[in-house]
This record gives sequence, C-alpha cells and structure tokens, in this order.
Amino acid sequence: MAVKRDYYEVLGVSRDASPEELKKAYRRLAMQYHPDRNPNDKQAEERFKEVGEAYAVLGDAQKRQRYDAFGHAGDGMPDLGGFSFESAFDLFDMFFGGGRRRARTGPQRGSDLRMNVEITFKEAVFGATRTIEVPRAETCPDCSGSGAAPGTSPEQCPQCGGSGQVRRSVNSVFGQVVNVTACPRCRGEGRIVSDPCPRCRGHGRVESRKTLEVQIPAGVDEDVQVRVAGEGEAGPRGGPPGDLYLAFRIQPHPTLVRRGQDLIYELPVSVPQAVLGDRITVPTVDSEAQVDVPAGTQDGRVLKLNGMGVPHIRSGRRGDQLCVVRVVIPAHLTGEHRKLYEQLGSRDGRPADVRKGFFDHLRDALRG
Ligand SMILES: [Zn+2]
Ligand SMILES: [Zn+2]
Repeated sequence: MAVKRDYYEVLGVSRDASPEELKKAYRRLAMQYHPDRNPNDKQAEERFKEVGEAYAVLGDAQKRQRYDAFGHAGDGMPDLGGFSFESAFDLFDMFFGGGRRRARTGPQRGSDLRMNVEITFKEAVFGATRTIEVPRAETCPDCSGSGAAPGTSPEQCPQCGGSGQVRRSVNSVFGQVVNVTACPRCRGEGRIVSDPCPRCRGHGRVESRKTLEVQIPAGVDEDVQVRVAGEGEAGPRGGPPGDLYLAFRIQPHPTLVRRGQDLIYELPVSVPQAVLGDRITVPTVDSEAQVDVPAGTQDGRVLKLNGMGVPHIRSGRRGDQLCVVRVVIPAHLTGEHRKLYEQLGSRDGRPADVRKGFFDHLRDALRG
C-alpha cells in the first residue's frame, strides 16, 4: 500500500486552519485537478481524488478530530475508510452543484449494509464472536451475475458501442467542456441483455440470507461502528460487493454503569464500616474484587480499582472501576441500636464541616 500524504499537506494548509480556509483550499485544488480540465492525465486524477479525500475528512469536524488524534491510523476505523473516485466526484458535485456525473462504466460496487446487533454488557467489554444472519442481495448463481439467461450472454450496447459512455459539450464552471455521461440505453454497463435470466429477471442478483461469523472487538460502545469488508450487497452485474457496517445495542449491567472506559459502581457502606473501615467484596465486570474502605470514609468518596474498567477499542488499555461510597443511614433502629446512637450523639454533638463533597471526590479520582 502506498504511503498516504498528510491531509493538511495535501490541502496546503496549516494544522490550525479554520473551516473557511479548508473550504477555500479544497475549492481551489479541486478545480485545478478536476479530470474534465486535465483529460487523460493520471496524475491530476489521483490528485483530484486525494484532495477530495483530504477534504472529506478535514471538512467534517468529528472526522478531523479523529484524524488529528490518530492520523491515518484512524482510516482503518469505520466510517473513514473507502474513499473512492466516485466519492471524489460526489463531493465535487455537492460543492459546485450541477450533478455533473462521470459515467459509471463497468460493473458497479454493491451497496453498503448497516445492521444493529444486540450484545450484552460483558460482550461489549471483552469482545465476542457472534453469528449473524444478513439479508442481502447476492450474485445470481444461475447467470453468475451477468443477468443473461443460461446459455446466452449479454450483447454489446448499440448506442455506445460497448463503452458505456456518451459524450456531449456542455457549459460548466470551467467554460465549455466535453461532458461524459453514462449511456442511457445500457446505463453505463456497455452491454444489454435481450434474453434475461429467469431466476433474477436480468438483475444479476437475488435476495438471500447469509450467515456470517463476526468478531466484535473488545471495548465497543454504542457510538462505534464496525466495518466488515466485502460483506455488503453484491454489485449489479457481477460488480464487487459493498461493506457491512455493524452498530451495537448494549444491554445495561445490573450494578455497573459505563462512562467511556471507566465503570462506576455505587458502593453501599454502613455507618460503622465508614467510621471504622472494612474490606468489602464488590462486583466487577470480570467477577468480583476486594475494596478497602479506610476508617473515617465520607459519603461520596471514590475508591478506585485500577485497570478493572473497559479496554480501549484500539490500544486495549483498560480503564478503572470507580466505587462511589454511599454511607447508608439506618432508617429504623431497634431499641438497643437506638440506645447506642443516643450515647454517641450525647458525646459527639454536631459534626464538623465536611471538608470534601461528592464532586471533589470524583474530581480527585479522575485526576489520580
Ligand atoms: Zn450503451
Ligand atoms: Zn440470474
């Protein structure tokens, strides 16, 4: 794989360029390298695509942030990948209006599919292998995607002579240019089918359900999509398949709440435990762990279990489990307990001011 140039370098702007500056840079370069202006110039074509790809990322605040953080490594992540020539033209058309499409010749790529998968809290944390059933269009087995009845084959389109393209002169943002569009007769395919395959009625594809085994990475969250390359719909007339994107619905945990890579657990502590200290067993996403509650623990204090949180989806480094102490004040006292509290009360009187509140504790825990 070729080494990718830095997107900022591609657009010739600084790393702190404003959205306006990015837009301007893209506009200028896309015009300069547009294939209509540089016919049969492979290098200009590549530059046109490169400029489009750079702007597709840097022009989108979220993708830009990710790019700034991870660089091109972020490309492997879902919804950044797969920038094609078609995408470059789509972007250009979006920018300048007009919908001046390049002819789509040859077999087309199939559509991407999106699927929601429901997983358990533990599967989201530790990853899993799941078998899913994907309803999708597959290449027709009878005609191998050609759309022509078995024993026959598609014929050359008489209107475009098989090129799939028709040319005509039009006025555009560049002045007079020759506009190449898809042949209307064969819709850019260059071939027509006169005797269609009965199984797929000439479409070259049939509906089917495919059973797939997919790997769910450890640390997925509901805002993450996982791309399964090549498992989308088959392309029309034997074209390459699209991709499958998986999104997740994660079932809640009975006692743990996830905040990014950290897990929060509310730890109930009795008054004597808080005052005298104790060692308490708490549930964790793995199984359970021991937490030492020091003597004199205030309500709201956060006790951290290092490395017991959720792994980062890329680095695998685990966050922490934060146990937030809840001192449970007894609501009903037996006669004996009441006497003990009364004795305590007559000696202690009013408490001194609590030095730290809940948010101070949480802040300390997140900092340390
Ligand atoms: Zn044609
Ligand atoms: Zn068929």
